[in-house]
Amino acid sequence: MYSHDVLIIGAGLAGMRAALSARQNGADVAVISKVHPVRSHSNAAQGGINAALEHAGDDWHDHAYDTVKGSDYLGDQDAIEVMCREAGSEVIQMEHYGVTFSRDENGRLGTRAFGGQGKARTFFVADFTGQALLHVLYEQIMRAGVRVYEEWFVLEILVEDGECAGAVVMEIRSGDIHVIRAKAVIMAAGGLGRVFEPSTNALICTGDGMGLAYRVGAPLMDMEMVQYHPTTLKGSGVLITEGARGEGAHLLNSEGDRFMERYAPNMMELASRDVVSRAEQTEINEGRGIDGSVLLDLRHLGEPLIRERLTQILDIARDFANVNLLEEPVPIRPGMHYQMGGVKTDVDGQTPIPGLYAAGEVACVSVHGGNRLGANSLLDTLVFGRRSGEHAAELAKSKSHKDLDDSAADAEKAHVQRLMENPKSEDMFGQIRVDMGTTMNDHLAVYRNQAGMESALDTVRQLRERYQSVYVPDKGKTWNTNLVFTLELGFMLDCAEAITLSAIERKESRGAHTREDFPERDDENWLRHILVRQTEDGPALDYQSVVVTQWEPQVRSY
Ligand SMILES: Cc1cc2nc3c(=O)[nH]c(=O)nc-3n(C[C@H](O)[C@H](O)[C@H](O)COP(=O)(O)OP(=O)(O)OC[C@H]3O[C@@H](n4cnc5c(N)ncnc54)[C@H](O)[C@@H]3O)c2cc1C
Repeated sequence: MYSHDVLIIGAGLAGMRAALSARQNGADVAVISKVHPVRSHSNAAQGGINAALEHAGDDWHDHAYDTVKGSDYLGDQDAIEVMCREAGSEVIQMEHYGVTFSRDENGRLGTRAFGGQGKARTFFVADFTGQALLHVLYEQIMRAGVRVYEEWFVLEILVEDGECAGAVVMEIRSGDIHVIRAKAVIMAAGGLGRVFEPSTNALICTGDGMGLAYRVGAPLMDMEMVQYHPTTLKGSGVLITEGARGEGAHLLNSEGDRFMERYAPNMMELASRDVVSRAEQTEINEGRGIDGSVLLDLRHLGEPLIRERLTQILDIARDFANVNLLEEPVPIRPGMHYQMGGVKTDVDGQTPIPGLYAAGEVACVSVHGGNRLGANSLLDTLVFGRRSGEHAAELAKSKSHKDLDDSAADAEKAHVQRLMENPKSEDMFGQIRVDMGTTMNDHLAVYRNQAGMESALDTVRQLRERYQSVYVPDKGKTWNTNLVFTLELGFMLDCAEAITLSAIERKESRGAHTREDFPERDDENWLRHILVRQTEDGPALDYQSVVVTQWEPQVRSY
């Protein structure tokens, strides 16, 4: 058995930021990750990170207002205030740790415009901001002496006497299952993108953290709020950063029109993501698309700018779409990108289970509400990762370990053994996973309706049945990725059910949740969060009011 004061599940930006701050606050800290830390999905973040720096003439209140409006008034304003107030110092801290942010012609940190914001306040490193941040944080946690269990897979959170006591984990290399005892556990296991097919997310984004927390009774909040990003490549779903539009790229329909003029005359291509995705989908549905897509045109930006600031997407468009962005527009369409919802926490990352924290995309503070602004997610991972780490380190000082021994892993050992012993059948993880992903993308995408969502719920429940007897052909212990993918699928199905149930429940259109059968926002009945909790009788729904501090809900236009 292993023991640490603070155990962090996930080595993306949220997990590593939490690890660093918990370590700096005196805790013995370990991070566990199912892939090498710098392969976490944070590495793929392209466009940048938001902060209102006062010496640059910006004001965090304006950033907070844009975030509240972007969330379609579902974000909790007390939490949004914390995030936006602490953004500037967080970005500067990252600069001091060694992140080489792109600079402007005067040598100051450069900004680019991002959607849904009144001011250009997105700090960036060309179009690989996530990679720059992640590698620097990895250096910092190595330097600080954080223990990293890399390529270990978390199977279960342990709760003893109502408090979080550690986790049961599998070393993927050997297949051995261990107990790690901890006084506090910070869940930082990232998003669930791959519950949908296609998605911009890495194949490892399978909602494990939401599933793990949900299974021990932590509520999931705002799960119906799934972000479809406006510019993903047709076919593969690979992301083309919003930074392209931030630098001035245009969206065109089959008639060559900049159609955003009709949907968001002031902000045009830089309206909020939900607004742009709906506009594109409407153009496509009304016959002004090209083979299910519209076009993103960068040609007028000129080669020097594209090569300097958008170098990665130049390669992505060439490699994945066979398009040279310098010479022709690239076909794009809305694609699943981000989960606004997640494990409900307060501003210190605390879930309702004492000792269990959550931060990053897995969590729902809620700062994104119905629609996340581009470049607010990296900020969310750092601010709430740091705060969770600080709080967890303090908590660990005030308590001792629960009395656990290796037998705490017995239930999970039996679970894995049962899976391995399922008799041979056609149902392997791959087919169930594809059926789930395409169903979710067919019925829970940009436009939704009751009949479609109900049929998705039926399908997800049938898939859960099939999953009970899922067949794992590889019987080995060493590097059994077949087993790992099957375990991930179990978490994905939990997430798919929670998303569908919440979406059916919300009978209005708000943010990313647009219903053809309830096209208007309904503040009277639905200015509240939906929570899903697992109970003995299956999933149960609950509600929580939205916190409004300074910004009363208004009609939202761009
Ligand atoms: C292509 C792309 C581009 C993006 N660009 C931007 C951008 O420019 N700006 C912005 O603000 N946001 C962007 N986002 C969103 C943002 O990158 C993510 O929301 C954020 O990086 C998530 O960080 P995280 O630390 O929460 O999780 P992740 O970085 O996803 O890390 C999750 C960690 O959890 C571990 N883990 C998961 N399950 C288990 C398990 N069962 N056992 C052990 N370990 C586990 C993984 O190994 C990994 O280390 C982008 C997202 C994508 C997909």
